[in-house]
Amino acid sequence: MPLYEYHCKDCGTSFEKMVRFSESNQSQACPTCHSEKTRKKVSAAAALGVSLSFSAASSSSSNCGSSGGFR
Ligand SMILES: [Zn+2]
Repeated sequence: MPLYEYHCKDCGTSFEKMVRFSESNQSQACPTCHSEKTRKKVSAAAALGVSLSFSAASSSSSNCGSSGGFR
């Protein structure tokens, strides 16, 4: 099961929770104040993997060549 990081809007707590992929888009109850106004944050590892695959795909598809911008 993947580990997701959530941020509670009510008390500002960030917490990590192991959730099934099918449940990852649901808001998880905050362990501190039990509010369900939580948002999933993208974990550092997941963000890195996504951006890497994105940049690889975009750089291969859009073949400008002259200006090698980082994005
Ligand atoms: Zn909370």
